[in-house]
Amino acid sequence: MIKKLIDRLFRRRAPGEGSAAAPRSAAPRGAAPPQAADRREPTRYKASEQGIRVEDVPSSAMRTCETLQKNGFKAFVVGGGVRDLLLGLRPKDFDVATNATPDQVTKLFRRSRLIGRRFQIVHVMFGRDMIEVSTFRALQTDAETDAHGRVLRDNVWGDQAEDAARRDFTINALYYDPIADLILDYHDGVKDLHRRVLRMIGDPASRYREDPVRMLRTARFAAKTGFAIEESTRAPIRELAPLIHNVPGARLFDEMLKLLQSGHSLESLEQLRREGLHHGLLPLLDVILEQPDGERFVKVALTRTDERVLEGKSISPGFLFATLLWQQVRVRWEQRCAAGESPIPALHDAIDSVLDEQGSKLAIQKRIIADMREIWALQPRFERRTGGAPFRLIEHLRFRAAYDFMILRVDAGEASAELGAWWTSFIDGDADARKALLERTPAGSAGPRKRRRRRPSRGADTPAPDDGG
Ligand code: ATP
Ligand code: MG
Repeated sequence: MIKKLIDRLFRRRAPGEGSAAAPRSAAPRGAAPPQAADRREPTRYKASEQGIRVEDVPSSAMRTCETLQKNGFKAFVVGGGVRDLLLGLRPKDFDVATNATPDQVTKLFRRSRLIGRRFQIVHVMFGRDMIEVSTFRALQTDAETDAHGRVLRDNVWGDQAEDAARRDFTINALYYDPIADLILDYHDGVKDLHRRVLRMIGDPASRYREDPVRMLRTARFAAKTGFAIEESTRAPIRELAPLIHNVPGARLFDEMLKLLQSGHSLESLEQLRREGLHHGLLPLLDVILEQPDGERFVKVALTRTDERVLEGKSISPGFLFATLLWQQVRVRWEQRCAAGESPIPALHDAIDSVLDEQGSKLAIQKRIIADMREIWALQPRFERRTGGAPFRLIEHLRFRAAYDFMILRVDAGEASAELGAWWTSFIDGDADARKALLERTPAGSAGPRKRRRRRPSRGADTPAPDDGG
């Protein structure tokens, strides 16, 4: 035991690694030493023979690797970038892994900045492109954890084999050197890619305990790749699902956002449901997956979102979460109206109650909350199609998002097709066309009457006293 500890503390490093890697900062805490399997030699593949074309690597990633290598460091494209190139998909972004420490990286790139605490990385900017550069990390066996085994800090530098062993799936642990046309594969990721299998590296249950978010990642990658989840990777999830409760809300939110913006959001949510990961874990998912009347709207919304992502268009998080929570807002809004509250204050109250409830688990950022609030609060204003109201509405900063949202409601059968068509013509129309539209506005299109709110609005849509009505 003592010999093992000494071996680990004074472990020999491969040439070129000793100088770059910072000393291990955390002392071993009695955890098991890395398994033999974690220290294996990589299989080497010629990247071009695996179907990767170097032309598909953006110059930003290429230059990052070149600069690091010219300065004596190792540098590889890792993670989703390599995986997706091998799968013939368009990678969302390119990450680079290196044995240079974050400080050394920032010194080499003028436009770079150090970010993160739990997980320090460097963002290197090239015009509008950004490359995330991370330093090889040690295995987490001696890391600081919470009572359930969740790793709290992960900034202990290690060598490349260790870095590979601490990645999540075999297909995410491939290292591609675009200059040398080489892939280094420590965990048979290339074979798993060919077999179309999603396999967790190491002991899956321990890996989920270290970081319960990996369970969500399993669902996301299974949906994205269409791969089968290898049995021992799938088996522990059902039992360990409640560990998601220990993950900080902000982290959960980030991962949910990745899942929803993956271009396979519907399939990912279905996958979560199949693995028993949605129930009682994320209030949001209960809402989405278990409200029968909400399902049509959410399905239309997510199908649209996926289409946009696959076309390479961006999706605003505010819009996305506004669509996911709208049914809940709508139901509460209707209940309040039925109880005699007037429509506009009732809407704001419904919004507040939904956001309070959801915000407690998923730490949705304030900026995103503000966007959601505006998109929702603008919806009743589409009903007002008389006088100056439509002109004021299209001048609103969030009009475009609110309009897209209204069209979604039309497509889901919740608002009339006539309303959608009217607004589409109004936007496209010149002054004469708009005048004509206002003249043939259907009867009863003055929209909900506004009353003063009982209490100050938190939204941007506090109706002005002269506005429509
Ligand atoms: P995407 O295409 O969605 O960006 P990705 O595989 O690049 O997929 P990221 O979240 O960008 O996913 O992470 C980059 C890489 O970092 C992963 O491929 C994986 O190797 C590693 N990684 C990320 N999160 C974890 C985690 N929770 N546990 C272990 N490894 C992780
Ligand atoms: Mg990535």
